[in-house]
Amino acid sequence: MPVNEINKYITIALDGAAGSGKSTTAHAICEKFKYIHVDTGLHYRAISLYLLNLNISPENTSAYLQSSPVFLSSELDKFSVYLYVNGIHYSKSELRNERMNREVSYYARLPEVRSLLLNYQRDLPVFGKNLGFSGIIMDGRDIGSVVLPDADLKIYLHADLQVRQHRRLSDGEHDSISSRDQIDSTRKVAPLTCPDGALSIDTGKLPIQKVVQLISNEITSLL
Ligand code: C5P
Repeated sequence: MPVNEINKYITIALDGAAGSGKSTTAHAICEKFKYIHVDTGLHYRAISLYLLNLNISPENTSAYLQSSPVFLSSELDKFSVYLYVNGIHYSKSELRNERMNREVSYYARLPEVRSLLLNYQRDLPVFGKNLGFSGIIMDGRDIGSVVLPDADLKIYLHADLQVRQHRRLSDGEHDSISSRDQIDSTRKVAPLTCPDGALSIDTGKLPIQKVVQLISNEITSLL
C-alpha cells in the first residue's frame, strides 16, 4: 500500500445546533482515532467576549475590526486546540455561561467576525497534521458547508429542541437554545445547515455509543 494511504490524514466536519451532542461525540472520536479536536463555538465565544470586554457592541464591531488588528493563535491541551485572541486565553467558565450564550450569536452573524475566524480555522488541519495527529474533527455550524467543504467526512447531528434543552439543563447550563437556533440558522453568512453529502444523525433517538459507532464505521471505510 502506498505510504500516503497508510498515513491518510482524515478531516471531519461535524455540524449541528446547540445541544445536539457535538462535543461529546467529538471527544469520543478523538480518543479512539488520535485526532485533534477544534470546537469552533469556543472561537466565536472568545471573540465575542474579547469585544464585550472592550465595550464594542455588535453594531460597532465592523468598524472596530477594520481599524484594530486582532491576532489569533493556537495552543494545544491534550487533543483540543484553544484559541488565543491577541494573546488572551479565556477559560471555559468565562466562555460557557448564560451571558455568553445570550450574546454570542449576535457577534457570530457578522461577516467581519466570520471572515476573521475562517482564515484561522482553515489553517488548523495543517496545524494538527504537523503535531502528528492522524486527523482532525472540527465542530460548529458551518464546517462542512464553508470552513472545510472538502472534508473527508461530513456529519450533521440533530435532536428535538426539548431533548437539547434537557441536556443543557442537566449540564447545569442556562442556554437560550431556541433563540440561538433562530439567529444561527437565518443569518445571511454561513447559516447553520446540514451540508450536502453529510451523514445526518438524530442523537435524540440513539445512545451516544451508537452515534460514535456509526461515525467510526464511516471513518474506517475511509482508511
Ligand atoms: O457550539 P456553541 O454552542 O458553543 O456555539 C456558540 C455560538 O457560536 C453559536 O450559537 C453560533 O452563534 C456561533 N457559531 C457559529 N459558527 C460555528 C460555531 C459556532 O456561528 N461554526
